[in-house]
Amino acid sequence: MDNLLTGSLDNISHHSENPDFEFIQHDVTRFISYEGEIDFIFHFASPASPFDYLELPIQTLKVGSLGTHNALGLARAKGATFLLASTSEVYGDPLIHPQTEDYWGNVNPIGPRGVYDEAKRFAEAITMAYHRTHGIDTKIVRIFNTYGPRMRLHDGRVVPAFVGQALAGQPITVFGDGSQTRSFCYVSDLIDGIFRLACSDCHEPVNIGNPREMTILEFAERIRELIPGAGSVVHEPLPVDDPKVRQPNIGRARSLLGWEPVVPFEEGIVETISYFREKCLV
Ligand code: UDP
Repeated sequence: MDNLLTGSLDNISHHSENPDFEFIQHDVTRFISYEGEIDFIFHFASPASPFDYLELPIQTLKVGSLGTHNALGLARAKGATFLLASTSEVYGDPLIHPQTEDYWGNVNPIGPRGVYDEAKRFAEAITMAYHRTHGIDTKIVRIFNTYGPRMRLHDGRVVPAFVGQALAGQPITVFGDGSQTRSFCYVSDLIDGIFRLACSDCHEPVNIGNPREMTILEFAERIRELIPGAGSVVHEPLPVDDPKVRQPNIGRARSLLGWEPVVPFEEGIVETISYFREKCLV
């Protein structure tokens, strides 16, 4: 189910002939009615790129609040297990590093990023309330920066932005001085972690991400080395409230799920570049 506000049918076209697959175009902020049985609900709906949630602040707040409420209501009605896609953004601009799940975060509620951070914090709160009050089997994954094929070329996030700019021979736009850090997880590792969490009996939030951390300037240089003809780095203003550091502590995922990422950055980024290279050719 998707309202395709930021999603694309191209990403699921390879399932179109699969009789076990059904797509429903619907906005989860409106009441969801479904006749069949449901075992699992994976609630991933939300703009997730800072560009998108700055453009769509009210939709972002509504999908995290009303959308999560509707999806939990459906889980309750169907006796389904419910998994919430939360985010490292619940930690805001973190004052402890790396981030552990018991850190409560440092979020500006009224800043431009607050629409996403607070929506996801509310989503976590209502998920725990449904678990405690109605006994729903719920899980919460806190997803850190993830990359891989099927991201949108113009989604604004740093991986498609730098790869797209480099392939087009344009300058690489590093925001601020590029000393801010991120830790990038390849998509197949993320999916493995989420699947293990869905099958577990863990109701507390679990960080899923790759602890290998780098500065954004370092990331820009890696992309320039990998893509011949890439332009040089230009600096643009740092967005408001842009977190200065981010790295997951994955101790909980390791001990409770037996999970850790296995795809090295060097491999994942090559796969991602070939995907975008094909996209740029069509
Ligand atoms: N960033 C950048 N240039 C871009 C896009 C992003 O320097 O063209 C920086 C951004 O300021 C942030 C980091 O890259 O520090 C990661 O940004 P992204 O939008 O991918 O997601 P975030 O981790 O901030 O949620």
